[in-house]
Amino acid sequence: QARSHNIQSVKYVAGMQSNGRHLLEMANEIRRAITNEELILHFQPQLNLKSNRLEAAEVLVRWQHPDKGLLAPGQFFDDIEALNLFSELDNYVLDKTCQTIAKWYKTYKRRVPLAINITADEFQATNFICNIKCLLKKYDIPPIYLELEITENVVITDIELVMKTIIELQNMGIKVSIDDFGTGYSSLAYLRRLPIDKIKIDRSFIQEVASNDSDLTIVKTMIELSHGLGKRVLAEGVETKEQLQLLRNIGCDAVQGYFISKPISEEEFTKYLKRK
Ligand code: C2E
Ligand code: CA
Ligand code: CA
Ligand code: CA
Repeated sequence: QARSHNIQSVKYVAGMQSNGRHLLEMANEIRRAITNEELILHFQPQLNLKSNRLEAAEVLVRWQHPDKGLLAPGQFFDDIEALNLFSELDNYVLDKTCQTIAKWYKTYKRRVPLAINITADEFQATNFICNIKCLLKKYDIPPIYLELEITENVVITDIELVMKTIIELQNMGIKVSIDDFGTGYSSLAYLRRLPIDKIKIDRSFIQEVASNDSDLTIVKTMIELSHGLGKRVLAEGVETKEQLQLLRNIGCDAVQGYFISKPISEEEFTKYLKRK
């Protein structure tokens, strides 16, 4: 009895140590990734359904790992979270995004609004606005080319502060949207209270929108509700022509998804820009 208990606790401690070692190694790797610019941006086009034109692109981070190849966020975000490195990541992506907007303008004489994902915690950070102002100035870009997507899967602890931040961003000309709409906490409360420009309907509602009547009803209602409140609607995860046509018919403003394009590298995206 006592013996097996001991063996178990030894295993347990060893497990904790190897987990600790793993995190320590990851911390070094991630810091190295940031300094060596192994973290790169991919871009996914967002299509305006009224004009049939590209209206913006979402920035999605990838890790070009020297040994493991190209990693998607799902493969390293747990470590980022455990190590508390999200604000470093967000700042890095924000800087690179502003740099990219400026670069594309110089090269292609064309500015594409870029939407980036910001963890809700960052919205509540005191130096967030200041940081953004600095970057707009540093790269000399007008604020209308930057959009921020905020996910409501984190409980916003200080809604007043988040509201203040969004109002300030709006006054600066920066657009804010709610990501993964319908899946998180108190969506309706946010929609009512937060002065946002756009909601992004989560992929899970779009997947079966063309075959499942309840999903269709939900999506229609989300669109009506948002329009009634003066907000634009983008549907995520559009994978088929049928979904796209249906969404257009029920008044959705914009779409994003594999049917239009997967997230692509900068090189591929600039080719896409020249084709359009
Ligand atoms: P998200 O913001 O909801 O981004 C959309 C995700 O859905 C992306 O996954 C994209 O590749 C995928 N997707 C797009 N269209 C389709 C489609 O038609 N079908 C399917 N099945 N999937 C589609 P990805 O790139 O793996 O990113 C996952 C999540 O990681 C993102 O979800 C976002 O929450 C987070 N994320 C990505 N980049 C960043 C970043 O730079 N900063 C922060 N804080 N979070 C990020
Ligand atoms: Ca997003
Ligand atoms: Ca989303
Ligand atoms: Ca998501």
